[in-house]
Amino acid sequence: MKESQAIARVIVKSAAEKSILRKHPWLFSGAIDKIKGNPGFGDTVLIQSSKGADLCVGAFSPQSQIRIRIWDFNPYEIIDHSFFEKQIRRASSKRSSIDDDSTNAIRLINAENDGLPGLIVDRYDGYLVCQFLSSGVESWKDTIVSILKNETGITGIYERSDTESREKEGLEKISGVLWGQCPPDHVLVKENGVRFLVDIKTGHKTGFYIDQRENRHLLSCYSHGKTVLNCFSYTGGFNTWALMGGASHVTNIDVSDNALSLLNKNAEINGFSPSLYTTVCSDVFQTLRTFRDGNKTFDLIILDPPKFAHSGHHVAKASRAYKDINLLAMKLLTEGGYLFTFSCSGHISADLFQKIVADAAIDAKREARLLKIMHQSDDHAITLNFPEGMYLKGLLCRIG
Ligand code: SAH
Repeated sequence: MKESQAIARVIVKSAAEKSILRKHPWLFSGAIDKIKGNPGFGDTVLIQSSKGADLCVGAFSPQSQIRIRIWDFNPYEIIDHSFFEKQIRRASSKRSSIDDDSTNAIRLINAENDGLPGLIVDRYDGYLVCQFLSSGVESWKDTIVSILKNETGITGIYERSDTESREKEGLEKISGVLWGQCPPDHVLVKENGVRFLVDIKTGHKTGFYIDQRENRHLLSCYSHGKTVLNCFSYTGGFNTWALMGGASHVTNIDVSDNALSLLNKNAEINGFSPSLYTTVCSDVFQTLRTFRDGNKTFDLIILDPPKFAHSGHHVAKASRAYKDINLLAMKLLTEGGYLFTFSCSGHISADLFQKIVADAAIDAKREARLLKIMHQSDDHAITLNFPEGMYLKGLLCRIG
């Protein structure tokens, strides 16, 4: 008979068995019937059905609503150094087609979608940036770091576990060097041959929005000869790609001075003259109104705001904010202009987002034709049994 290494057993209610059969990697506290033993933070537990069948093995998180994150649907899988080595090798082999001479800013490990719940690892040239967002990966941090170092041949590993979601696991925000050299203030990377400076230590998320790689490339195909308005520009991913595509001028809006100064550097290292673009350090909601009142127009507008809905409770308020900026943007677009509009809120479904943008078009008295549906880039791909992983959605519309 096979044996489990788990120090405790968790008996789930029958409704949760279905979710396990469908290979969903989370078990919420309400799904648990009984706990046999006394598992602590990050401990490996065996999950059993009410009839005593062994179902899967996971990491216990005493404080989080997500009480268990499943490591493996084979209940006898041993969770040890070899398990993490296998998962990390699998994840990096899935990226081999993206990781080439022209692109070296890549998501290597996408948490639940790569069988490593709560672990994000991004590579920026010679540096790895990690986020440990669950009790399980936090407990195995030393093992994971040592495997990453051996498998990837990089110069340094930096931690950016300074996100709000750590608090739900009972963990403090933390950042700093985990191994090797500390990255310089700006690490130079390439995205499909275009150069970007990334601020690993204090930039957003792990430093750069690599999830927009494919959408930035798409934008370049639509920007030739266009006047572009890039809202929520951050460090200019879309600015540089619009200029690559031959935009006649790009106006960038962001509230962050630091982001805009890096935007300027990013345009410069790709050889673009400052006369081709401007930066406006201000609030997008206000500035769109000022532009509307001044009868300004643009041929192409990008709306890539931060996450407006941080939980299910914020959906109504976030929907109003999305509608507001989309309505204003449509009023500023020339006849036949293009709108690249995004939402990175996991709590706003693709359906709802499309309805919000459709309503904005009605109120703006414009016709919006959907040309393309956009998603997060391939290295952020989800497994279909974990729809929560699909957070970034975008619509490319032609506005008549
Ligand atoms: N499009 C970017 C990523 C955008 S991230 C890229 O591809 O790299 C969201 C950006 O919105 C951040 O830089 C943040 O500083 C900015 N921001 C947040 N709220 C804002 C507001 N109300 N007005 C202007 N900028 C805002």
